[in-house]
Amino acid sequence: MSESIRELKGIGEKTQKLFEKVGVFTMEDLLHYYPRDYDVYDKPVPVCQVKPQMKCAVKAALAQTVSVKKAGARTVITGKIQDDTGSIDVIWFGMPFLRSVMKKGSVFVFRGKAEEKNGRLCMEHPEYFTLAAYEGMVHSMQPVYGLTKGLTNKTVVKSIRQLLEQKALIREYLPDSLKQQYELEDYEKAVRDIHFPRDLGALQNARKRLVFDEFLLFILTVSRLKEQAEASTTKYALKEVWKTEEIIEGLPYELTGAQKNVWYEIERDLKSRRAMARLVQGDVGSGKTVIAFLAMIMAAENDTQSALMAPTEVLAKQHYESLRTLLTQEDWERYQPVLLTGSNTAKEKRERYEKLKYGESKIAIGTHALFQKNVPYRNLSLVITDEQHRFGVHQREEFSQKGERPNVLVMSATPIPRTLAVILYGDLDISVIDQLPARRLPIKNCVVDQRYRKTAYRFIQEQVEMGHQAYVICPLVEESEGLDAENVTDYEKRLRKIWRDEIRTGVLHGKMRPVDKNEIMEKFASGEIQVLVGTTVVEVGVNVPNATVMMVENAERFGLASLHQLRGRVGRGDAQSYCIFMQGNQEKETSKRLEILGKSNDGFQIASEDMKLRGPGDLLGFRQSGEMEFKLADIYQDGGILKLASGAAGRIMADGSLETEEYGKLKRKLEIFTKNKGEEIQL
Ligand code: ADP
Ligand code: MG
Repeated sequence: MSESIRELKGIGEKTQKLFEKVGVFTMEDLLHYYPRDYDVYDKPVPVCQVKPQMKCAVKAALAQTVSVKKAGARTVITGKIQDDTGSIDVIWFGMPFLRSVMKKGSVFVFRGKAEEKNGRLCMEHPEYFTLAAYEGMVHSMQPVYGLTKGLTNKTVVKSIRQLLEQKALIREYLPDSLKQQYELEDYEKAVRDIHFPRDLGALQNARKRLVFDEFLLFILTVSRLKEQAEASTTKYALKEVWKTEEIIEGLPYELTGAQKNVWYEIERDLKSRRAMARLVQGDVGSGKTVIAFLAMIMAAENDTQSALMAPTEVLAKQHYESLRTLLTQEDWERYQPVLLTGSNTAKEKRERYEKLKYGESKIAIGTHALFQKNVPYRNLSLVITDEQHRFGVHQREEFSQKGERPNVLVMSATPIPRTLAVILYGDLDISVIDQLPARRLPIKNCVVDQRYRKTAYRFIQEQVEMGHQAYVICPLVEESEGLDAENVTDYEKRLRKIWRDEIRTGVLHGKMRPVDKNEIMEKFASGEIQVLVGTTVVEVGVNVPNATVMMVENAERFGLASLHQLRGRVGRGDAQSYCIFMQGNQEKETSKRLEILGKSNDGFQIASEDMKLRGPGDLLGFRQSGEMEFKLADIYQDGGILKLASGAAGRIMADGSLETEEYGKLKRKLEIFTKNKGEEIQL
């Protein structure tokens, strides 16, 4: 399964490249490239019930034989279909052969999305089926995969079908006893059904099995880490220092009670011989950064080093700058903080490494670049990761080999209920900052539809004129076939037209080169860009307190957790901030979901309300933001399965089952999983 997908028939170099773009390299990747959605073939409806924007099937006859025209090189076929209740138009492009199929009086089931055109309803490019063919398909579910330009759904379907033929490759690895106890589907059947479910029931069973597996493997990996962690001591038991008190006294604000408590917990950990492994959970804006700095200062005063890793260069630089404002010039010079990122020049790198090597520099702030093999730390007593968990197993081993097990602090804004956090972060102690700084003005929210857009633009303009900045978020990077949602590329062009370049705009998305992303973020942070049009890449950790408006287009397309993270980008300064959730459609359910956000600014509450509202019927869930990347599982929706898996894992670990023959296959699977995923699982 670890072989390249090139082994499959019909996948040449070109298709391989396309698959790589969506993250599929090996057969294993392909097997787990799960559908984004399923197209359900519903019973035909009477023509009179068809409404604009509705996707449906109708059983209807051609009123006349279709007419054929040429538009440039393309053939355009138009016609009218009808049943007893009414008629609608149909149109196809580039399908000249339809002339001999779509004859007057012939009856088909037509399926597609209806649009209003010149005052009449029209189905563009409907699929068509004979009545018998459609009869066989009613209620069936066709997988819809995430695609990229050039990669068609058909290609993905064909490739996966071919892979599923090779049964020998897809082997069960859970023992029967376990499957029976937790009522789990066979592995082979589950992967087949997740791609090509016969019906809803089959899909639910498949999903349950695969979600269970994702959790089980994850928890088993984490438990093994924990076993190792418990036994481990650090040679860095630090001493309490006065400096941290002095810094706290000198802050322009008073720490919240929650911040203080968490800081004392960390201080206690740092003093103990046991290596710290602590997660600090705190909603966006709860003030985690200053806590991290206090820990780093304590390390520095103990004549040891510490490293703080941020997910992006921009954020790393911001942290570096905030530390500068926190420290006096004298302290700054004593600690000599260095910034290590991917865009350091060779010279900068050399100089900074040099400082670390001889211990002149006590503090390193940066991105992944902090943990490249050759960074010459000297007495690294503390490692902090901000908003991400990629400080993985391998990196930890690396440090252990050097005989220096550092204390570890993980900072996260992901709102996970504590009961779930205990399972998911089983190897970490958890601290929660459950209080926001007092004087902060709550963000004003509104959920609106497209009619409000003009007003929204005027509002943003006013804010910009007052010297503030704004974000506008769209779901897509560029126009995408079949997806009816805003994209940043066209959107920004439109804004520039509207504002006639009076407002400086910029674009930011994940497909940009990292250097370009940085440049844009810096321009936004410095105020050069006033309105930033971006995808959710802006959701992680950026701090631009001058930004007061967050407008999200097609808000219905985002998970609530994501939206909450996005909202956390504003309301970081003293000025009143606003969040505008723009709905692309006005379905009741989505309004209800968005209203939850409108009513609450509390991430924990939002997550649990969202879970209640979506209920267990929601099969696909919403991609939760960033950190905890499961393919199918959703920590909120699948809380029940998570508990089952946790129970199973506990039993397996407790009675040493992994060493028995019955569990031999699972053990091997786990080894591969840990090898591949270890990077992504935190300490
Ligand atoms: P997050 O927890 O999202 O990382 P930050 O650490 O970036 O939050 O803090 C957000 C803002 O709140 C910063 O500008 C910070 O200076 C400020 N801040 C932190 N703690 C307090 C406090 N106790 N009172 C007032 N402002 C605070
Ligand atoms: Mg932060």
